[in-house]
Amino acid sequence: MTDIKDLTLDELRNEMSALGEPPYRAVQAFTRLYKRGALCFDQFAEFPKPLREKMAGRFAIGRLELEGVFEARDQTRKYLFRLADGEFIESVLITSSSRQTVCLSTQVGCKFGCVFCASGRRGFVRDLTPSEITGQVLYLRDILEIGLTNVVFMGMGEPLDNLLNLEKAVRILNAPEGLGLAARRMTVSTSGLVPGIERLGAMGLPINLSISLHAPTDAQRNRLMPVNKKYPLVVLLRAGEEYRTKGGRMITFEYVLLAGVNDTAGDAERLARIVRRLRAKVNLIPFSPIPGLEFAPPSEAAQLRFLQALEKGGARATLRQSKGKDIQAACGQLAGRAR
Ligand code: SF4
Repeated sequence: MTDIKDLTLDELRNEMSALGEPPYRAVQAFTRLYKRGALCFDQFAEFPKPLREKMAGRFAIGRLELEGVFEARDQTRKYLFRLADGEFIESVLITSSSRQTVCLSTQVGCKFGCVFCASGRRGFVRDLTPSEITGQVLYLRDILEIGLTNVVFMGMGEPLDNLLNLEKAVRILNAPEGLGLAARRMTVSTSGLVPGIERLGAMGLPINLSISLHAPTDAQRNRLMPVNKKYPLVVLLRAGEEYRTKGGRMITFEYVLLAGVNDTAGDAERLARIVRRLRAKVNLIPFSPIPGLEFAPPSEAAQLRFLQALEKGGARATLRQSKGKDIQAACGQLAGRAR
């Protein structure tokens, strides 16, 4: 049975018309589902009983099951959800003085095999459906009553490898009749899937784009991120530049600092050139340890030196302490395991 929350408003309008109902019923259903958090069709008060029964015969209203919550010393929280088929995903809530940001998963596992990433090591299991993606937001908002301000698609999986469902989830989150979350409060992160970047740009929504760069040359990037062999830097940066100029949104680069791998003065100089060219900003993220991986973060002094070299090279940069390290919720650490 179709989960009604897999449908965008336009798709739901079509479904309602197939049931012989006027289009406004779709708006009413959206309002019930996303503004009032309805969990069953009996809560669709403005629908006559026969219609509620028809809806219940045609659609399901799914919900994620919370399996565990892990809280880090810095207050970052990780939520482990069980999906209907028994798979697990993780979402992370990052709190600052002005924002409550949820980091969403878009796939169970990931097929891109970045060598420093726990999701990549697990391999790919499946795409999340639109309702499983938006369900992470709904659970936090409706069940845990958390006032979210921002959404980032940076959890398990490569969002642009699940483009159709990502696009639907974004439209549902963004729709005024849905969750009403402004596109500029959403950020999609990618390891560098160029066709996906182009498609995201064509959606015409001012969504922020974050590119996981992690290395300033093809040789280094090929070793860390196999996706670079298909979409090398010249192609990726061109797509990023186009996204920025056409959509008017700033690009952010993520750069995980790995001791002895991508942290030399020369790396900083090359990275600064890339960042300047795209008028972007780069977030430096010291590597967070993952059991079984031999990478390590540079010393704090080396991290600062790298940051200063970037700034000297005219690049806008921040050095972030990765949040939620002690609960395996930091960048690259999500693996969707029941513990
Ligand atoms: S960093 Fe992103 S794209 Fe790379 S393996 Fe991990 S989840 Fe996949």
